[in-house]
Amino acid sequence: LPSANSESSESLAKMLEHWLIENRLTLEVLLDAYCVVDAANQVVDFNVAFTDLCGESYRKIKKIGHFCELIKTELCPGQCPAKQILTSGQPIRLDELKGTSRAFQDLHLILGGVPLFGPNKEILGSLITIRDVTAESELQKKYGERKKESVTDGLTRLYNKVYTETTLLKFLTGAHREGQQLSICMVDIDHFKRVNDNFGHLAGDHVLSLVAQMLQGESRDSDVAGRFGGEEFMVILPNTDGPGARVFAERFRKHVEGTVIQFEGKPIPVTVSLGTSTFSQAWPGGATPEKELKELVSRADAALYFAKANGRNQTRQFEAIPKTEKK
Ligand code: GH3
Ligand code: MG
Ligand code: MG
Repeated sequence: LPSANSESSESLAKMLEHWLIENRLTLEVLLDAYCVVDAANQVVDFNVAFTDLCGESYRKIKKIGHFCELIKTELCPGQCPAKQILTSGQPIRLDELKGTSRAFQDLHLILGGVPLFGPNKEILGSLITIRDVTAESELQKKYGERKKESVTDGLTRLYNKVYTETTLLKFLTGAHREGQQLSICMVDIDHFKRVNDNFGHLAGDHVLSLVAQMLQGESRDSDVAGRFGGEEFMVILPNTDGPGARVFAERFRKHVEGTVIQFEGKPIPVTVSLGTSTFSQAWPGGATPEKELKELVSRADAALYFAKANGRNQTRQFEAIPKTEKK
């Protein structure tokens, strides 16, 4: 005699069959791979896209039958999506699903599933659609890398000049809006020609990337450090006044001064000179951010020049240079 249980599962299967017949047309227009899974997690219906995704023939899928055997993801079998739908009676959507079986290895899948109900709200199984978005996500990743590449300097991994200037313009506009101060700090390695001449170009490159690394390390996440020229860097210090910029510059200068840089076993003495300038709301109004950017940069340049002229390995603040000394 059939048990009450098998009777009910038989009737569930009948109802699911009925559901499939009623919804045939809807299923046929689905563009993604889909399968219909019954209450025992057996795949009872699927399209060609599903066979393609599984990399199995129609007959093989029929033979394997069990959803978890066919679709091995990082969630299977512990949190098998089909089982989750059955037990919760809730739709499911998984955006970052990774395949684990041979056919799915390295695939990036999007899975959506809904429970299928009988006339008295009994759960008959689920409809599950799966989209393979591997190609799209690879493309997006590549695009992201390219984008980063296009704003980064190859040797130092700092931002390049174009990006740094564009960012400064954005920050200046922001400083206006928020009524904040903003400082920039120009950095130039002292007698860098001598490094190249005495230790070679490779040693020069090594020094450049180490100094850049130190600069990145000293600046905050909200600061922007860029390579502005050969051995010249600029750091944008948002929401920072003159004294604040000086503190930053001096901390970095001392860090470089106190660091013994070695190349092929030889110590290379390295120091830097720095010039800072600060935009404040007290600047005469009416100028465009572009003009203010030019002014700010030329002031920092003048301060840097002053630091060089006065013996190098020091920080000069444009605003603190005596009027008579300014060019
Ligand atoms: P100062 O203290 O006045 O700044 O002296 P300096 O020798 O550093 O000044 P200058 O600007 O005249 O020389 C900069 C040198 O930096 C010249 C150039 O050969 C070198 N340089 C620029 N870019 C690179 C680079 O990417 N790699 C290496 N190795 N050297 C570079
Ligand atoms: Mg130099
Ligand atoms: Mg220079």
